[in-house]
Amino acid sequence: MAKLPVGNMVAFVVLAGIVILTGAALFSAPKGVSNDVNGIQCQSMEGAVMHIHAHLDIFVNNERVDVPVNTGILQSCLYWLHTHDSTGIMHIEAPVARTFTLGDFFAIWGRTWGTNPLAGQTATAYVNGQIFEGDYRTIVLAAHQSITLEVNSNKTPELYAFPPGL
Ligand SMILES: [Zn+2]
Repeated sequence: MAKLPVGNMVAFVVLAGIVILTGAALFSAPKGVSNDVNGIQCQSMEGAVMHIHAHLDIFVNNERVDVPVNTGILQSCLYWLHTHDSTGIMHIEAPVARTFTLGDFFAIWGRTWGTNPLAGQTATAYVNGQIFEGDYRTIVLAAHQSITLEVNSNKTPELYAFPPGL
């Protein structure tokens, strides 16, 4: 008789584990429909014509806001603008040469995660340490660019040290 509750408990723990693992799998990658965003496609392969990296720091009330891992990556495809981690490195990997803006990146962020931490807020923008006059969404992304966006913050913008190979 004493073994029955233990067996039930084991079964419960195993079941709970399966539920938790299933939940983790469901929520580990963002979902969404893979419609184009500003003409930027979501494709199964990373584009090879254009491959540059830029870096984004965001501060709101002097607190860092991480750019989410897998921004622009859905279960079945990658947008030409995406992240592979939460370092703030933006990958621009496109099969065509064209201009991409920070606004494009935020639009894809919104499509991927459904959130934009700066929605409705005015940000002070810096590009490579120099203040950017105008709407941060119009910043044209360039190789090894360091972009800093600040809302109600007084951080000193930093130049990002890109890892070798990027
Ligand atoms: Zn890359």
